[in-house]
Amino acid sequence: MSPRPFDGQVAMVTGAGSGIGRACAVLLAQRGAAVIVNDVSVEGAAATVEAIRAEGGAAHAAVADVSDRAAVETAVLAALAGLGGGDVIGVLVNNAGIASRRLPIEEVDDAILDRMLGVHVKGAFHCTQIVLEGMKRQGAGKIVNISSAMGTVGGRSGSHYAAAKGALLSMTRTWARELAKWNIHVNVVAPGGVFTAATATIRNYAEEAKTRVPIGRFGEPEEIASLVAFLASQEANYITGQTVSANGGEFIH
Ligand code: NAP
Repeated sequence: MSPRPFDGQVAMVTGAGSGIGRACAVLLAQRGAAVIVNDVSVEGAAATVEAIRAEGGAAHAAVADVSDRAAVETAVLAALAGLGGGDVIGVLVNNAGIASRRLPIEEVDDAILDRMLGVHVKGAFHCTQIVLEGMKRQGAGKIVNISSAMGTVGGRSGSHYAAAKGALLSMTRTWARELAKWNIHVNVVAPGGVFTAATATIRNYAEEAKTRVPIGRFGEPEEIASLVAFLASQEANYITGQTVSANGGEFIH
């Protein structure tokens, strides 16, 4: 495999201002992509853009809340123009997410539910719809959605998060069938526990991993990014509609 399989391509990563999204953006840039760095955080997006540029890569921020269709479309089109490398986004990683508060069902009110589904489900719809026209015109595209083990196996609580992550699995399967005729591949990654800002506040998280996870630890963002980069590459041309789990063996199904 070429060390720069994404040379000449534009990739977009949502929620790329930290954690898994930042790791994906940095790796795709190291492998040649010009990256649109979406995040709702101005500082987070700027820091990722800076990290990519410091390594000689190309990146442009697209600061917007993915649940706001007009805002994200405006920001992405401006970033695409700012990159100056064509008008097609060939790789999309729908990663933006908000942490699961381990809420029991009785405490999930409409505002919490709307926000959770808005960011994860509507956000992925919006961004996928934004990139589709270009991918169809180009006759190729790779979309990787980021779900969670909470989507594949559920949890003991946090059903609003599990619902949003479960929706990403079924959206992936349907989009994969719908879009295959344009050579657009859609897959979903389901991470188990990964050390990021979103999980840093969970008490005893590292300790828990030693007993919960067969390989004895939770994952690092870069270990999810390498899987995402594979699924986004030509190496994965015969893979679409699939859920790929990365969880150190915590869930084997
Ligand atoms: P993270 O470090 O909190 O990163 C998520 C990023 O998304 C943050 O920069 C966040 O910005 C941004 N974001 C939040 N809402 C957004 C919105 N509406 N529009 C655009 N950007 C938005 O979390 P992470 O752990 O890397 O999680 C990344 C993805 O992996 C999420 O979808 C998460 O559900 C999934 N996941 C994580 C784990 C894990 O253990 N870490 C496990 C399974 C799945 P702010 O910080 O400013 O809110």
